[in-house]
Amino acid sequence: MVSADGAVLEFIEGRRVADRAVALQLWNWAEVGYQEEQSSIRLQKELREAGFSIKAGVAGMPTAFIAEYGSGKPVIAILAEMDALPGVSQAAVPERLPLRGRISGHACRHHLFGTGSTSAGIAIKNWLAANRRSGTIRVYGTPAEEGGAGKSYMVREGLFSDVDVALHWHAVDRNAGTNEPTLANKSAKFRFSGIAAHAAASPERGRSALDGVEAMNFMANLMREHVPEDARMHYIITRGGDAPNVVPEFAEVFYYVRHRNPVVMAEIFDRLIAVSEAAAMGTGTTVKHELIHDAYSLLPNDVFAAAVDVNLRRVGGVNYDAIEQAFAEKLFATLGKTDVVLGSEREVQPIG
Ligand SMILES: [Zn+2]
Repeated sequence: MVSADGAVLEFIEGRRVADRAVALQLWNWAEVGYQEEQSSIRLQKELREAGFSIKAGVAGMPTAFIAEYGSGKPVIAILAEMDALPGVSQAAVPERLPLRGRISGHACRHHLFGTGSTSAGIAIKNWLAANRRSGTIRVYGTPAEEGGAGKSYMVREGLFSDVDVALHWHAVDRNAGTNEPTLANKSAKFRFSGIAAHAAASPERGRSALDGVEAMNFMANLMREHVPEDARMHYIITRGGDAPNVVPEFAEVFYYVRHRNPVVMAEIFDRLIAVSEAAAMGTGTTVKHELIHDAYSLLPNDVFAAAVDVNLRRVGGVNYDAIEQAFAEKLFATLGKTDVVLGSEREVQPIG
């Protein structure tokens, strides 16, 4: 494969301008989970123009797609996430500058994720074609990585059934292959129903749904001392009533539970359900929960991690041009105390 390295490096250099333009568009659109309409179409366009056939709107999700090239085995999948996060907005500049009128942003760098995966798919397609090898390369446009787990619906539809290996990557502050598992996670919205009443005239007739939420949060916070140290529980109150002078009839809290071990995570989640029921009982309200997502932790694969490491070293580190270097230096200055060394991107770091 050594002879292919020159072609691969040439491809990466040649894609630089296109990649930057696509990533910047995704950044500016900043479309959140399941609403990645323009981002999805943009990635599909790159792949279609490169000779991939596209199936869009798969697994009942308008923004999910599969782009395919080649035939036969092996079937290699590359995942392309593209969703932004709600509640953060930032212009593509190295200082804090929210984009006017936008309430979402690519805080988890999926604008790079989708763009990089698309180019990786095209690179493999070119390699297959140049070397006349059998094999199928697919780029999976997977919606709503952030709290939606769009790809689990694609798995359920059997869209990965014939896949031999699924590869992905993520922009981080280390230029390296990785074999780290992720945290298994599960989320649910807990909806409390009470009895509305005027909070001054007849509070004794009311039962506050918000009290249910608060009692649940209090008990969940006590629980933190009695779960494994590396477990994570976080919540936001998504509905808390409409006016202070009305006893809230309805309130809602949105919880995430995470742990590396899916079994431990599920146990904590079940305890959280018990907590919600106890909170409802104590406040004279009722509660129902709706599961929003449930994702297994990433399964590490030593063989593929080693292969990624070897191939990444063939490509080498990242060398910024003068404009990128100036951008990086400005951005780096805003980080405060960090273990990251600017310039470490020029070398491939040890696998980890
Ligand atoms: Zn991410």
